[in-house]
Amino acid sequence: MRGGLFSWWDRITKIDPVVENFATKGKRGTMRPMQPVVVQHPLAQCHLAAIRAQATPSHQFRRHLNLLARMLFLEASRELPLREISVRTPITQTTGAALARPVVFVPILRAGLGLLDGILPLVPEATVAHVGIKRNEETALPQSYYANLPANLGSADVFLLDPMLATGGSACEAARQLKAAGALRITMICVVSCPEGLSAMESAHPDVPIVTAAIDQGLNDKCYIVPGLGDAGDRYFGT
Ligand code: URA
Repeated sequence: MRGGLFSWWDRITKIDPVVENFATKGKRGTMRPMQPVVVQHPLAQCHLAAIRAQATPSHQFRRHLNLLARMLFLEASRELPLREISVRTPITQTTGAALARPVVFVPILRAGLGLLDGILPLVPEATVAHVGIKRNEETALPQSYYANLPANLGSADVFLLDPMLATGGSACEAARQLKAAGALRITMICVVSCPEGLSAMESAHPDVPIVTAAIDQGLNDKCYIVPGLGDAGDRYFGT
């Protein structure tokens, strides 16, 4: 895990994340697109500790993951463009705001569904697309087994959802599929990331910003993130 040319710490410092605390509005406008944003809001870090804990049962894991996903999405959506709308209050006519473009959420099956549950109530009119990607045991390459993508990807703000950015294989393949289907603006939301996955995404998709709650040390020999939280899908679904 810590072998190779770079230690995990070297690679984290090479990746140079932006530490986000919800009090730095406007900062992202000046950063390069692929710099990961690490949301360090105190409540986010408390939810993260809860889902890391092995003793946390599935029903609590779901609650904490949903809330943490919501916080990550608030950061990831900070720069969505708005259009002005006219609003009639009980008192008078005034102006208000609506999202200027459609939003598409794309959970990577199956663990990405755990982020969707927390985020969708914030944009209930969003479209939900799905991609299913598994590892081909012979080639060790990511292999798509399901995709259901809407036709409006090109005009939408697309949020790719996966709780764990481990090797980056699934995320890279999902982003490739989304671009091939016309997506122009993709943001990835992952709860726990690691240098290997971030580097893979930076190489393959330098135009896809990543919002995460943590950059962990790295991968173990089974490609689990260390310290991580174990298998996110198993823990979310209780399987
Ligand atoms: N997927 C998971 O659910 N956990 C990991 O640690 C890595 C990939």
